[in-house]
Amino acid sequence: GGASGYVGRFAPSPTGELHIGSLLTAVASYLDARSHGGKWLLRIEDLDPPREVPGVAERMIATLQRYGFVWDGEIVWQSHRHGRYADIMDELLERGLAYPCHCSRSKIKAAGLLAVDGWRYPGFCRDAGLQLATDLAVRLRVPVGCVEYLDRLQGRQSQELAADVGDFVLRRADGCWAYQLAVVVDDADCGVNQIVRGADLLDSTPRQIYLQRILGFGEPHYLHLPVLVNSAGEKLSKQTLAPPLPEGGETNLLVLVLQLLGQNPPAGAQLWGLSGLWEWAVAHWTVSKIPHCKAISVEYDPKSG
Ligand code: GLU
Repeated sequence: GGASGYVGRFAPSPTGELHIGSLLTAVASYLDARSHGGKWLLRIEDLDPPREVPGVAERMIATLQRYGFVWDGEIVWQSHRHGRYADIMDELLERGLAYPCHCSRSKIKAAGLLAVDGWRYPGFCRDAGLQLATDLAVRLRVPVGCVEYLDRLQGRQSQELAADVGDFVLRRADGCWAYQLAVVVDDADCGVNQIVRGADLLDSTPRQIYLQRILGFGEPHYLHLPVLVNSAGEKLSKQTLAPPLPEGGETNLLVLVLQLLGQNPPAGAQLWGLSGLWEWAVAHWTVSKIPHCKAISVEYDPKSG
Protein backbone atom coordinates (compact mmCIF):
# COMPACT_ATOMS: atom_id res chain seq x y z
CA GLY A 1 0.00 0.00 0.00
CA GLY A 2 0.92 3.63 0.16
CA ALA A 3 1.46 4.22 -3.56
CA SER A 4 -1.26 6.85 -3.34
CA GLY A 5 0.49 8.65 -0.48
CA TYR A 6 -2.54 8.15 1.76
CA VAL A 7 -1.55 7.28 5.35
CA GLY A 8 -4.32 6.68 7.86
CA ARG A 9 -4.45 5.11 11.30
CA PHE A 10 -6.52 3.71 14.16
CA ALA A 11 -5.46 4.86 17.62
CA PRO A 12 -7.40 3.22 20.45
CA SER A 13 -6.73 3.98 24.13
CA PRO A 14 -6.45 0.81 26.25
CA THR A 15 -8.74 2.20 28.95
CA GLY A 16 -11.51 -0.29 28.16
CA GLU A 17 -12.28 -3.18 25.81
CA LEU A 18 -13.11 -2.50 22.15
CA HIS A 19 -16.88 -2.23 21.66
CA ILE A 20 -19.09 -1.75 18.64
CA GLY A 21 -18.40 2.00 18.61
CA SER A 22 -14.64 1.43 18.44
CA LEU A 23 -15.21 -1.21 15.75
CA LEU A 24 -17.10 1.35 13.67
CA THR A 25 -14.17 3.78 13.87
CA ALA A 26 -11.66 1.05 13.04
CA VAL A 27 -13.73 -0.16 10.06
CA ALA A 28 -14.27 3.31 8.61
CA SER A 29 -10.62 4.35 8.93
CA TYR A 30 -9.52 1.01 7.46
CA LEU A 31 -11.90 1.10 4.50
CA ASP A 32 -11.09 4.72 3.72
CA ALA A 33 -7.36 3.93 3.69
CA ARG A 34 -7.60 0.69 1.71
CA SER A 35 -10.05 2.06 -0.84
CA HIS A 36 -7.51 4.83 -1.53
CA GLY A 37 -4.68 2.30 -1.88
CA GLY A 38 -3.28 3.78 1.31
CA LYS A 39 -1.51 2.60 4.43
CA TRP A 40 -3.29 1.98 7.72
CA LEU A 41 -1.29 2.19 10.93
CA LEU A 42 -2.14 0.97 14.41
CA ARG A 43 -1.17 3.00 17.46
CA ILE A 44 -1.92 2.12 21.06
CA GLU A 45 -2.53 5.32 23.03
CA ASP A 46 -1.29 4.06 26.39
CA LEU A 47 -0.54 7.48 27.85
CA ASP A 48 -2.50 7.31 31.04
CA PRO A 49 -1.41 4.34 33.19
CA PRO A 50 -3.80 5.21 36.06
CA ARG A 51 -6.79 4.74 33.70
CA GLU A 52 -5.46 1.67 31.86
CA VAL A 53 -6.53 -1.87 32.49
CA PRO A 54 -3.74 -4.50 32.25
CA GLY A 55 -4.12 -6.82 29.26
CA VAL A 56 -6.60 -4.62 27.41
CA ALA A 57 -4.11 -3.46 24.76
CA GLU A 58 -3.13 -7.07 23.93
CA ARG A 59 -6.80 -8.07 23.76
CA MET A 60 -7.53 -5.12 21.45
CA ILE A 61 -4.80 -6.25 19.08
CA ALA A 62 -6.08 -9.85 19.15
CA THR A 63 -9.63 -8.65 18.48
CA LEU A 64 -8.52 -6.58 15.50
CA GLN A 65 -6.71 -9.63 14.14
CA ARG A 66 -9.79 -11.79 14.64
CA TYR A 67 -11.77 -9.31 12.51
CA GLY A 68 -9.17 -9.56 9.76
CA PHE A 69 -7.65 -6.08 10.04
CA VAL A 70 -4.13 -5.92 8.63
CA TRP A 71 -1.99 -2.94 9.63
CA ASP A 72 1.15 -1.59 8.00
CA GLY A 73 4.43 -1.55 9.87
CA GLU A 74 4.97 -2.00 13.57
CA ILE A 75 2.41 -1.05 16.17
CA VAL A 76 3.33 2.29 17.78
CA TRP A 77 3.02 2.41 21.59
CA GLN A 78 2.80 5.90 23.00
CA SER A 79 4.37 4.67 26.24
CA HIS A 80 7.61 4.18 24.28
CA ARG A 81 7.70 7.76 23.03
CA HIS A 82 8.02 9.88 26.16
CA GLY A 83 11.45 11.19 25.15
CA ARG A 84 10.10 12.54 21.90
CA TYR A 85 7.19 14.30 23.65
CA ALA A 86 9.65 15.82 26.14
CA ASP A 87 11.80 17.19 23.29
CA ILE A 88 8.80 18.85 21.69
CA MET A 89 7.65 20.30 25.02
CA ASP A 90 11.14 21.69 25.64
CA GLU A 91 11.10 23.31 22.22
CA LEU A 92 7.75 24.97 22.96
CA LEU A 93 8.99 26.17 26.37
CA GLU A 94 12.15 27.60 24.83
CA ARG A 95 10.15 29.44 22.21
CA GLY A 96 7.97 30.97 24.94
CA LEU A 97 4.89 29.20 23.58
CA ALA A 98 4.35 27.08 26.67
CA TYR A 99 4.72 27.69 30.41
CA PRO A 100 4.72 25.78 33.70
CA CYS A 101 1.56 26.04 35.78
CA HIS A 102 0.91 25.15 39.42
CA CYS A 103 -2.84 25.76 39.54
CA SER A 104 -4.99 23.07 41.08
CA ARG A 105 -8.15 21.73 39.46
CA SER A 106 -10.26 23.30 42.22
CA LYS A 107 -8.70 26.74 41.76
CA ILE A 108 -9.43 26.60 38.01
CA LYS A 109 -12.97 25.41 38.63
CA ALA A 110 -13.58 28.15 41.17
CA ALA A 111 -12.81 30.77 38.50
CA GLY A 112 -15.96 29.49 36.76
CA LEU A 113 -14.93 29.97 33.11
CA LEU A 114 -16.52 27.43 30.78
CA ALA A 115 -14.68 25.63 27.99
CA VAL A 116 -15.90 23.15 25.35
CA ASP A 117 -14.77 20.28 27.57
CA GLY A 118 -14.73 21.44 31.16
CA TRP A 119 -13.27 24.50 32.87
CA ARG A 120 -11.26 27.03 30.94
CA TYR A 121 -7.91 28.02 32.42
CA PRO A 122 -7.95 31.72 33.39
CA GLY A 123 -4.22 32.14 32.75
CA PHE A 124 -3.03 32.69 36.34
CA CYS A 125 0.46 31.31 35.60
CA ARG A 126 0.68 32.61 32.02
CA ASP A 127 3.09 35.39 32.85
CA ALA A 128 4.24 34.17 36.27
CA GLY A 129 7.61 33.01 34.93
CA LEU A 130 7.61 29.78 36.97
CA GLN A 131 10.64 27.51 36.68
CA LEU A 132 9.98 24.15 35.10
CA ALA A 133 9.72 21.36 37.70
CA THR A 134 8.63 17.76 37.36
CA ASP A 135 5.59 18.28 39.58
CA LEU A 136 4.20 21.21 37.57
CA ALA A 137 1.84 21.00 34.63
CA VAL A 138 2.90 22.61 31.36
CA ARG A 139 0.37 24.56 29.32
CA LEU A 140 0.35 25.87 25.78
CA ARG A 141 -0.32 29.57 25.33
CA VAL A 142 -3.17 29.90 22.83
CA PRO A 143 -3.65 33.01 20.73
CA VAL A 144 -6.83 34.96 20.05
CA GLY A 145 -8.30 34.05 16.68
CA CYS A 146 -10.26 31.38 14.92
CA VAL A 147 -8.99 27.97 13.81
CA GLU A 148 -10.96 26.70 10.82
CA TYR A 149 -10.86 23.52 8.78
CA LEU A 150 -13.03 21.57 6.39
CA ASP A 151 -14.12 18.18 7.67
CA ARG A 152 -14.75 15.62 4.92
CA LEU A 153 -18.07 14.61 6.49
CA GLN A 154 -19.08 17.33 8.95
CA GLY A 155 -18.26 20.29 6.69
CA ARG A 156 -16.73 23.58 7.78
CA GLN A 157 -15.64 23.71 11.41
CA SER A 158 -14.32 26.58 13.44
CA GLN A 159 -13.32 27.29 17.01
CA GLU A 160 -12.00 30.29 18.96
CA LEU A 161 -9.18 28.62 20.86
CA ALA A 162 -8.77 31.37 23.45
CA ALA A 163 -12.49 31.70 24.20
CA ASP A 164 -13.64 28.09 23.77
CA VAL A 165 -10.64 26.17 25.12
CA GLY A 166 -8.03 28.39 26.77
CA ASP A 167 -4.37 27.57 27.45
CA PHE A 168 -4.38 23.78 27.50
CA VAL A 169 -2.21 21.17 29.15
CA LEU A 170 0.69 19.49 27.32
CA ARG A 171 2.01 17.61 30.34
CA ARG A 172 0.01 17.03 33.47
CA ALA A 173 1.34 17.70 36.97
CA ASP A 174 1.47 13.91 37.52
CA GLY A 175 3.88 13.65 34.59
CA CYS A 176 1.43 12.12 32.08
CA TRP A 177 1.60 13.47 28.55
CA ALA A 178 -1.56 15.05 27.23
CA TYR A 179 -3.40 13.32 24.41
CA GLN A 180 -3.42 16.59 22.40
CA LEU A 181 0.36 16.74 22.25
CA ALA A 182 1.05 13.04 21.75
CA VAL A 183 -1.46 12.59 18.94
CA VAL A 184 -0.04 15.50 16.94
CA VAL A 185 3.58 14.40 17.34
CA ASP A 186 2.83 10.75 16.54
CA ASP A 187 0.68 11.45 13.51
CA ALA A 188 3.35 13.78 12.13
CA ASP A 189 6.24 11.38 12.84
CA CYS A 190 4.40 8.51 11.14
CA GLY A 191 3.41 10.60 8.11
CA VAL A 192 -0.32 10.28 8.85
CA ASN A 193 -2.16 12.61 6.49
CA GLN A 194 -5.75 11.32 6.79
CA ILE A 195 -7.50 11.09 10.14
CA VAL A 196 -10.82 9.24 10.40
CA ARG A 197 -12.17 9.16 13.98
CA GLY A 198 -15.21 9.83 16.11
CA ALA A 199 -17.06 13.14 16.27
CA ASP A 200 -16.46 13.16 20.04
CA LEU A 201 -13.02 14.50 19.08
CA LEU A 202 -14.33 17.40 16.93
CA ASP A 203 -13.66 19.83 19.78
CA SER A 204 -10.04 18.67 20.06
CA THR A 205 -9.12 19.08 16.40
CA PRO A 206 -8.54 22.86 16.42
CA ARG A 207 -6.07 22.46 19.30
CA GLN A 208 -4.26 19.81 17.30
CA ILE A 209 -4.24 21.94 14.14
CA TYR A 210 -2.81 24.86 16.10
CA LEU A 211 -0.05 22.62 17.47
CA GLN A 212 0.71 21.35 13.94
CA ARG A 213 1.04 24.93 12.73
CA ILE A 214 3.44 26.12 15.42
CA LEU A 215 5.52 22.94 15.11
CA GLY A 216 5.72 23.23 11.32
CA PHE A 217 3.94 19.89 10.73
CA GLY A 218 1.65 19.32 7.74
CA GLU A 219 -2.10 19.48 8.34
CA PRO A 220 -3.87 16.15 7.80
CA HIS A 221 -7.34 15.85 6.30
CA TYR A 222 -10.05 15.04 8.82
CA LEU A 223 -13.22 12.98 8.72
CA HIS A 224 -15.19 12.84 11.98
CA LEU A 225 -17.61 9.92 12.09
CA PRO A 226 -20.91 9.90 13.97
CA VAL A 227 -20.40 8.22 17.34
CA LEU A 228 -22.69 5.44 18.52
CA VAL A 229 -24.83 6.41 21.49
CA ASN A 230 -27.21 4.42 23.69
CA SER A 231 -30.91 5.17 24.16
CA ALA A 232 -29.99 7.78 26.79
CA GLY A 233 -27.86 9.59 24.18
CA GLU A 234 -24.57 8.67 25.90
CA LYS A 235 -21.54 7.67 23.84
CA LEU A 236 -20.92 3.92 24.04
CA SER A 237 -17.88 3.46 26.26
CA LYS A 238 -16.64 1.58 29.25
CA GLN A 239 -18.31 4.21 31.46
CA THR A 240 -21.70 3.65 29.84
CA LEU A 241 -21.17 -0.13 30.09
CA ALA A 242 -20.94 -0.83 26.36
CA PRO A 243 -20.45 -4.60 26.07
CA PRO A 244 -17.01 -5.70 24.81
CA LEU A 245 -16.91 -7.23 21.32
CA PRO A 246 -17.68 -10.91 21.87
CA GLU A 247 -15.67 -13.78 20.43
CA GLY A 248 -17.61 -15.21 17.54
CA GLY A 249 -20.18 -13.53 15.30
CA GLU A 250 -17.53 -11.30 13.67
CA THR A 251 -19.16 -11.33 10.23
CA ASN A 252 -22.56 -10.40 11.70
CA LEU A 253 -21.07 -7.47 13.59
CA LEU A 254 -19.08 -6.34 10.58
CA VAL A 255 -22.28 -6.32 8.51
CA LEU A 256 -24.06 -4.36 11.26
CA VAL A 257 -21.27 -1.78 11.36
CA LEU A 258 -21.31 -1.45 7.55
CA GLN A 259 -25.07 -0.84 7.78
CA LEU A 260 -24.58 1.81 10.47
CA LEU A 261 -22.00 3.44 8.17
CA GLY A 262 -24.66 3.59 5.45
CA GLN A 263 -22.78 1.22 3.15
CA ASN A 264 -25.73 -1.17 2.57
CA PRO A 265 -24.09 -4.57 2.18
CA PRO A 266 -26.32 -6.87 0.09
CA ALA A 267 -28.66 -9.34 1.78
CA GLY A 268 -26.78 -12.51 2.70
CA ALA A 269 -23.42 -10.75 2.99
CA GLN A 270 -22.98 -12.46 6.38
CA LEU A 271 -22.44 -15.71 4.49
CA TRP A 272 -19.43 -14.52 2.47
CA GLY A 273 -17.00 -14.88 5.36
CA LEU A 274 -14.65 -12.18 6.56
CA SER A 275 -12.41 -11.95 3.51
CA GLY A 276 -15.36 -11.77 1.10
CA LEU A 277 -16.95 -9.07 3.24
CA TRP A 278 -13.77 -7.00 3.40
CA GLU A 279 -13.30 -7.31 -0.33
CA TRP A 280 -16.83 -6.05 -0.98
CA ALA A 281 -16.52 -3.29 1.62
CA VAL A 282 -13.23 -1.91 0.24
CA ALA A 283 -14.57 -1.97 -3.33
CA HIS A 284 -17.84 -0.24 -2.36
CA TRP A 285 -16.68 2.23 0.30
CA THR A 286 -18.56 5.50 -0.24
CA VAL A 287 -17.98 8.36 2.20
CA SER A 288 -21.07 10.26 1.02
CA LYS A 289 -23.27 7.41 2.26
CA ILE A 290 -22.11 7.80 5.88
CA PRO A 291 -24.87 9.54 7.86
CA HIS A 292 -23.96 13.25 8.05
CA CYS A 293 -24.52 13.58 11.77
CA LYS A 294 -22.59 13.48 15.02
CA ALA A 295 -24.38 10.60 16.73
CA ILE A 296 -26.29 7.43 15.83
CA SER A 297 -28.46 5.75 18.42
CA VAL A 298 -28.04 1.98 18.60
CA GLU A 299 -29.54 -0.67 20.81
CA TYR A 300 -27.12 -3.51 20.63
CA ASP A 301 -27.13 -6.69 22.61
CA PRO A 302 -24.13 -8.93 21.87
CA LYS A 303 -26.10 -11.99 22.97
CA SER A 304 -28.67 -11.55 20.21
CA GLY A 305 -25.89 -10.71 17.69
N1 GLU B 1 -7.13 7.42 21.53
C1 GLU B 1 -8.29 8.20 21.20
C2 GLU B 1 -9.53 7.46 21.64
O1 GLU B 1 -9.48 6.26 21.81
C3 GLU B 1 -8.42 8.47 19.71
C4 GLU B 1 -7.39 9.38 19.23
C5 GLU B 1 -7.54 9.82 17.80
O2 GLU B 1 -8.12 9.10 16.98
O3 GLU B 1 -7.03 10.89 17.49
O4 GLU B 1 -10.55 8.09 21.82
